[in-house]
Order: sequence, then structure tokens, then C-alpha cells
Amino acid sequence: MDRGLFLSKVPYSPPSWATHLDPIPCDIYSLGQVPTPIHKWNLPGLPKNTELWIKRDDLTGMQLSGNKVRKLEFLMADAVAKGADCVITIGGIQSNHCRATAVAAKYLNLDCFLILRTSKVLVDKDPGLTGNLLVERLIGANVELVSKEEYAKIGSVALGNLLKERLISKGRRPYVIPVGGSNSLGTWGYIEAIREIEQQSQQMGLCFDDIVVACGSGGSIAGLSLGSWLSTLKAKVHAFSVCDDPNYFYDYTQGLIDGLQSGLSSRDVIDIQDAKGLGYAMNTTEELQFIKEIAEATGVILDPVYSGKAAYVLLKDMKQNPAKWEGKKILFIHTGGLLGMYDKVEQLQSLMGKWQKLVVEESFPRIDGIGKMF
Ligand SMILES: *Cc1c(COP(=O)(O)O)cnc(C)c1O
Repeated sequence: MDRGLFLSKVPYSPPSWATHLDPIPCDIYSLGQVPTPIHKWNLPGLPKNTELWIKRDDLTGMQLSGNKVRKLEFLMADAVAKGADCVITIGGIQSNHCRATAVAAKYLNLDCFLILRTSKVLVDKDPGLTGNLLVERLIGANVELVSKEEYAKIGSVALGNLLKERLISKGRRPYVIPVGGSNSLGTWGYIEAIREIEQQSQQMGLCFDDIVVACGSGGSIAGLSLGSWLSTLKAKVHAFSVCDDPNYFYDYTQGLIDGLQSGLSSRDVIDIQDAKGLGYAMNTTEELQFIKEIAEATGVILDPVYSGKAAYVLLKDMKQNPAKWEGKKILFIHTGGLLGMYDKVEQLQSLMGKWQKLVVEESFPRIDGIGKMF
């Protein structure tokens, strides 16, 4: 399919193996820098003959980075087709999805309203400029804070609708994007990614047995598993959930898959494991230490909320059940989220070291000027 130039909208045509899905999106906005690279990822401590590769969906862009871009390519096309003049979305205070949505909206000349969930004591204070908030506020997204308690009581759908009604009464035309961009339309983002992986693995002469990915709202794993099952890929999708429990995600992704009339069962096409640890967006020192070790060993920086936890539990599982992974070719999807790391700087401080004042003797001669070196 011809995606057209960056920021252009083109008619969408699905992969040949997905034409029976329903509904099929009308258009796609070209927002992501794709195809994202796939490269070998030599993590220390892999089982015998296990080959690990990584797909760099953290490189789908700079401000507009990570896995949410793929969903937004379809969601923003729908928003524009429906004549929206602004978008509303909702998530945690460091939501990568909210940041990506805000950037995509500005690229397309739409206003953006973000409902962000924070603690009760912070809900009526300036949210600050850490991580994703810096980008959101630089580009002028409207931030509406809710407490975790209000969020749990009222629910994300009702909160989105409440803001929608308010904006309509002011004469605006809002388009609401659900948490994580995870509805059946957003699912097409990772169906499309499977077409990309299919082409790349053919070009590279690779055949992946397994796909590994973090799961937060379920849209990515729904698209990956549906696509992998229907395409020639046939890789088993392993999801590592970082909030809620696996049963919740089997049910939620079932709803997304049913929304495309695929007739498949989520329990047949996905294997979901719990990687939540201390809780959503909370890290143990061991997890952060692990992320740092991987960064030092391979140059790849995982994020603390999603891919870091997924890789942490994956390697644990490889140690506990080596037979499950031995001899396999595995593709790990790096879903982005680097900006979330800024929320962890205090916790990371003690893990860093490796710095000192450069010792320079008093008598060391001065060498001046550019060009003299050549
Ligand atoms: C949202 C997110 C995920 C999870 O993807 P879902 O489609 O919401 O399950 C994983 N990694 C990062 C960095 C994310 O921002």
C-alpha cells in the first residue's frame, strides 16, 4: 500500500489476509516513521540457541514516538473525516498515548484536551513539566486533572463524555479517543505493523517463532495477535501486562477482536503473563537496575512502565522455563516510552556512578584553535 507523504491522508487498503475483517478503515494518516528497524538484540543470559531480535517501534518519531503512533494513524483519519476541530483523550499523568495524541493533533491543526489521572493531593496543583508533560505543555495541550479516586469511580468513558458534552455546549466539535487508543479502529495499527514485519522478515530471510510485547490497554496485542494468526507470520504472541490481570486482558482483547468480526478467540492467539510488579508505573530497584544493565550492554533504553517490565519478566521466564524458549527466534517489540524515564530520575540516581572530576595538572600546556588539529 502507498502510504503517501508524511502527514498526508490516503485511502487505506488492508493486507490481502485481512480483507474479511469488518469494519475496514477508510483512510490512514501517515504519521509514523515506518518501517521501523528490526535488528539482533544480544541480551546477556539468553537460553541456548535462542535468537532475540528487536523491532524498534520506539523510533516511530521523536515527539510522536512509540506504539501509539500506529493507532493514531487510523484514529486521527477518522477524527478528520468526522469533521472534528479538537480531540479528547485520557490516561495516566505520564501517559505516552496522551503525549502522542497531543502532538498528532497539533500536526493536523486540531486542539487537544487531555484528561490526566494523578494523586488526590496533586489534582489541584500545577502538574509540572516532567517527561511527557513537558512535550504536552510546550505544544499547548489543555490538561484537565482528575484524581485516581474520581477516575476509578466514574470511569474513563464517562469522563471523556463529560468533557465532550462541555465542549459541544461551547460550540466545539470534539472527537474522543479512548484510553491508549485501544478500540477496534486503533487495533488496525498493529495489524498494519504485522504486514510490515511480514515484509521485513521475508527480506531478512528470518522466520520468527514468537513475538513479545508489553500490554497496557490491549490494542497493540489485539492487532499483533490477529495479524500474526491471519498472515503468513504465524508467530505466537506473548503479552506481558503491566496493569490489571491477564484475565482482564483476555476479555478486553476479545472485545476488540470481536469488533472486527474475526471469529477468533483471544485465548487461542495470545499468551498473557503478569508483569505488573509493584503496580502500574511503579518500579522496584531491581527493574530499574535491569533496564540500566540492558542499556549498558546493548545501547537500547527500555522504558520503566512497559517494555522494561516486559523484558524483565521475559528473561525471568527464560531462566525458569528455558525449554519454552530454547532454539527459538523471538521478536521483541520495543513500544517506546523513553520520556517516562524522566519520572524515575530520583530512583535512578543511586544506580549511576561513573563520574569524576577530570584531573588536569596546573602546568598542562594550552592548545588553541580549530583547524590546527588537521
Ligand atoms: C501504551 C504503551 C504500551 C502498551 O500498549 P497497549 O496497546 O496500550 O497495550 C506499551 N509500551 C508503551 C511505551 C506504551 O506507551
